[in-house]
Amino acid sequence: MTSLRTRERLIQRLREEGIENERVLETMRTVPRHAFVDEALASRAYEDTALPIGYGQTISQPYIVALMTQALLAGGPIKKVLEVGTGSGYQTAILASLVDDVYTVERIEPLLKLARRKLRELGFRNIQFKLSDGSWGWHEHAPYDGIIVTAAPAELPQTLVEQLAPGARMVIPVGGPTLQELQLIQRTDTGHTSERLELVNFVPLVRDRT
Ligand code: SAH
Repeated sequence: MTSLRTRERLIQRLREEGIENERVLETMRTVPRHAFVDEALASRAYEDTALPIGYGQTISQPYIVALMTQALLAGGPIKKVLEVGTGSGYQTAILASLVDDVYTVERIEPLLKLARRKLRELGFRNIQFKLSDGSWGWHEHAPYDGIIVTAAPAELPQTLVEQLAPGARMVIPVGGPTLQELQLIQRTDTGHTSERLELVNFVPLVRDRT
């Protein structure tokens, strides 16, 4: 069983690490992270660490989820978000608790199916799922008020920048297979600006077609 105390300890730790958006902290307190990992790992769900979810993928570290979500929301109210890399669906649940509509893309079918089932069981009704290579975004629903990418490309995918509304933000790790820069991209009238947030370690963004 995962006690409320272990969850509370995680929130305290996120505060100490510099997460200060109260809506983000409250959402991380209420969304059950243990529901998104295998039962055998559930007792570790409120440790501030990434955990395996099968297929060589991981559920992101809570601090990184909080940091990315906070950075996305810092620009002002957001209605529609694109997430690339559904994985376990945990980040999806955090986003769906904070914005009106979430569009999430995953390329590994069993992960997408499992995430969809869990999110439905938890009562989320504002998430649309797509099995696809998310480096191409999801252009039918563009432009987005925000984009979160939870797998790392070697270079910033221009297609994703183009699916941002004017002034909208994207949080994305960019770099090599073991270490990347978490970047905050902001769409401008003429192109985009980019700010480095932190060094991170995500799984690679895999390209399925060119
Ligand atoms: N936010 C997720 C992170 C999962 S790991 C979580 O916390 O659970 C990253 C995910 O990105 C993996 O599930 C991987 O399959 C997926 N991924 C990698 N390349 C992708 C691509 N091109 N398009 C869509 N998903 C991709």
